[in-house]
Amino acid sequence: MIPKMMTRQAKVDKELCIGCSLCTRSCPKSFKLEDDGKSTALAPASDSEECVQKAIDECPVQAIS
Ligand code: SF4
Repeated sequence: MIPKMMTRQAKVDKELCIGCSLCTRSCPKSFKLEDDGKSTALAPASDSEECVQKAIDECPVQAIS
């Protein structure tokens, strides 16, 4: 049986990310720009679920799931 997740974990598709930094500015405790100029999702995401959902909705290339 798969244990129930307490919070959803965001994931960034680096192939799609264009490094616009929108998500890292909206939810700095959940996303970080790496040296390669692409965002990565921090684990665990420390911003509110609403914030992470906003980042998902605002990403211009739908790289966050
Ligand atoms: S909002 Fe999307 S494109 Fe912009 S840095 Fe975040 S994941 Fe990358």
